[in-house]
Amino acid sequence: MKGRVAKYYLTDGRRHTDSEGYKTSVAFEKYLADCGLQVATDRDFGITALRWAGMKAGIGIIRKNNFFYTEKGSYQYLEAFLIDEPLQYIVENQIRPCAEKCNLCMRSCPTESLEAPYMMCRNTCVSCLTTWDGWDLRTEPLQNKFEKWIYGCDACQDAWPHNRKAWKDTEEFPELEAWSSHFTDTEIVLAEYSWLRSVVQPKLWYIPQGKEWRYKTNALNAMLNNYDPKYLPVIKKVCQDEYREVRDMAEWVLEEIERKGIGESENGQ
Ligand code: SF4
Ligand code: SF4
Repeated sequence: MKGRVAKYYLTDGRRHTDSEGYKTSVAFEKYLADCGLQVATDRDFGITALRWAGMKAGIGIIRKNNFFYTEKGSYQYLEAFLIDEPLQYIVENQIRPCAEKCNLCMRSCPTESLEAPYMMCRNTCVSCLTTWDGWDLRTEPLQNKFEKWIYGCDACQDAWPHNRKAWKDTEEFPELEAWSSHFTDTEIVLAEYSWLRSVVQPKLWYIPQGKEWRYKTNALNAMLNNYDPKYLPVIKKVCQDEYREVRDMAEWVLEEIERKGIGESENGQ
């Protein structure tokens, strides 16, 4: 999945009740309530600005790419719990800030969405454009910069150095293997909507229910950006997809392949 689906979403426990993250969150909320506190939380998006709250709580810092880093890097989930008692702040961290001259994250951003330290343009971020915000990739001026990304983008977090040892690939996550092993570009584009609806959408839920066709249009875009002749029959086949958005995207991709001449050269024609 590397370079195609952002890591954050592979192990997203916010709605996954079998995950350790979800269970820990529920257990902590219960612990606070058992202490006699009133508790409020929002597991989906946080009850407050999570990165800012995390920084003020002393558990990490915000780096120039705007992501929140603890001593273990940025691949972390933050949650906030609002309670009805003041707490004493006692945590201090020894995390070093970004080196003044480092700009690796900005240089790695495929769309130059990271315009300057601590400044990200949401309108041009691949992570936004492949999840919430991008709807018709045929008219998206940056679609040819999405590389292989289908859902999210990790480029500015994968940039060295503070995530060097952060992602270890050593633990299982419930059901991840079952769906991710069938998440190649071709399999997504040809997938049954019932599978996308029941298996994929509950995991990659920033694409809302009823819009599952967007996994297909994102994958078609990745096919165009990384064209291989083996994709051609797949793209042609989904010109008959049941969703107009996918049919339109597939036809546009075929036109682009022809306009750019990439199909001809790679076919040796
Ligand atoms: S790549 Fe450099 S500037 Fe960007 S977040 Fe990492 S250390 Fe900071
Ligand atoms: S997530 Fe990707 S597109 Fe967005 S700012 Fe980071 S590198 Fe750029």
